[in-house]
Amino acid sequence: FPAVPPKSTVSSILVALRIRPLTTKESKESTIAVIKPISKTSLSVTDFSDAQDVLRQDRPREKTYDFDCVFSETASQVNVFEGTTKGLVDFVLQGFNTTVFAYGATGAGKTYTMLGTQENPGVMPLTLEHLFSQIGKSTRAQTTNGPNAVTQSFKVTLSYLEIYNENIRDLLSGRPDYLELWEDRLRGSVVAGIERVEAKTAADVLEWLEKGNLNRTQEATGANEASSRSHAVLQIFVAKRTCNKKGQYTEQSGKLSMIDLAGSERAADTKNRGMRMIEGASINRSLLALGNCINALTEEGSNGKYVNYRDSKLTRLLKDSLGGNCKTVMIANISPTSSNFEETLNTLKYASRAR
Ligand code: ADP
Ligand code: MG
Repeated sequence: FPAVPPKSTVSSILVALRIRPLTTKESKESTIAVIKPISKTSLSVTDFSDAQDVLRQDRPREKTYDFDCVFSETASQVNVFEGTTKGLVDFVLQGFNTTVFAYGATGAGKTYTMLGTQENPGVMPLTLEHLFSQIGKSTRAQTTNGPNAVTQSFKVTLSYLEIYNENIRDLLSGRPDYLELWEDRLRGSVVAGIERVEAKTAADVLEWLEKGNLNRTQEATGANEASSRSHAVLQIFVAKRTCNKKGQYTEQSGKLSMIDLAGSERAADTKNRGMRMIEGASINRSLLALGNCINALTEEGSNGKYVNYRDSKLTRLLKDSLGGNCKTVMIANISPTSSNFEETLNTLKYASRAR
């Protein structure tokens, strides 16, 4: 039976907003700063979407948006990790499901935030390092003597999949066929036949991640690459076995889902037609469904309110990892430039609605 979490942790969603710095190319262009962090939890946006509005004094041009935390251009990867996912690790070790996802338009910094670089590892590597370090600590801290002696052992396994055009593909096996999604009463959402591998260290996981990324769908389109049209879902399963002197044991398992979402830009922005348009539409279906689920979960007095997970593959997959006893972190990424204004505004609306 699932464990009962402390009251204070029930159904909580943390929404963080991260503004990426200007790229070298952007800093050479004449761009207008449209985003201004005004506190640790809010930012203001100046609306330059219509050039004439700038000259009009009768219209409020600045709007404020609130989040649980705002990370400015100067925030480090460690700052973001400590302010968002670090706190999830203990929940996973206690047997709860937690989810972190990066939301935003293509180029806004999702992959940088999640994966990062060799020199500046992102939320995924930092969270995994912390996870394995906590496992090491609690394994070392065991009482192995006395009448109440128990031993704890952990087993970490992972799977890595892609949702592209509402189809699920296993990135670890690299098999081209689509996998089915089942809802299992005991095990929650289960992807049939997906490969699950064991990891002993954070480096193990990253190695699998790298291998898996080679299997991501690759097709160039007018606006962006296939990888920005698909959701990449890394799921870490932590099984904890607690064993007493008599050899009796109990098992608890927690799941940490880490998701680099597809770009949130609208399908209409791509130059493509036909198949590409359908893909665009299903990206929006998953993102829309995710937004709807989160809104339903965060609405005041939503206790027992019906949450519709059925509308997309992504939400069906995350059904056992959102709401209820789960902890969710959303990191919305935006670009600071005026040229991405429309996308930025859409992201701010989506993310501030999710609180
Ligand atoms: P997305 O995954 O949302 O399409 P990326 O993560 O690929 O966007 O980011 C676009 C570019 O901006 C990349 O070159 C990336 O290295 C850079 N970038 C994004 N966020 C940051 C940041 N916080 N600090 C430095 N560079 C960043
Ligand atoms: Mg990316």
